[in-house]
Amino acid sequence: MTLDPKSPAHHPAHHPDEALLLDYAAGSLDEPTSLVIATHLALCPDCRRVVAGHEAVGGVLLEETAPVEPAAGALAALMTLLDEPAAPPPVDASPIPSAPILPRPLRDYVGGDLGAVPWRKLISGIDVHDIVVGSAPNRFKTRLMRIKGGVAVPRHTHEGFELVMVVEGGFSDGGRHYDRGDVTCSDGEVDHSPVADADGGCVCLAVTDAPLRLTGPLMRLLNPFVKF
Ligand SMILES: [Zn+2]
Repeated sequence: MTLDPKSPAHHPAHHPDEALLLDYAAGSLDEPTSLVIATHLALCPDCRRVVAGHEAVGGVLLEETAPVEPAAGALAALMTLLDEPAAPPPVDASPIPSAPILPRPLRDYVGGDLGAVPWRKLISGIDVHDIVVGSAPNRFKTRLMRIKGGVAVPRHTHEGFELVMVVEGGFSDGGRHYDRGDVTCSDGEVDHSPVADADGGCVCLAVTDAPLRLTGPLMRLLNPFVKF
């Protein structure tokens, strides 16, 4: 049975490299890459478990190097809390809001949910919104891309790396399909032209650390003019 990618029980099928998860847990990633990983983690219980494992190991190492005394009375306060009967959960009569599409870390950077994004047309069928991440200027470009159903991103390769996470909808690339939460990483070895799903298109979060280079027979003439 295939779960609806919008279901909370859906697990992404394509994950960041474990090295990225390890660097994330250690706090050693740059901010744009961290944003992609944190957004993926919001949708991926499998990677959350991996990161929690790394953080636990990191915590043990930290404890070994820097012992911390518990605050005086902390244990007594905890025991008092444990003795108290649990309060009944408050009754919330407000209507259940529809779940936001942008996961929390990304929504904070965008300043709202997907409906609040001030899109800018890049080329026919592709809109973008650049997100300011980290202290500007830096070598990274962090952006949301909205690709219309059935539209192909012009064939291109990379001078650096490109980390992409599907936020809504899906796309196909190199015989693989990517749904909400899925992550893919490309570099100069990859020459591709991802195609958004025909039914509904795709919204992605993309981080690149160098410009893309168009490689299609006609589009490559546009390289000096189109700043992807
Ligand atoms: Zn994952």
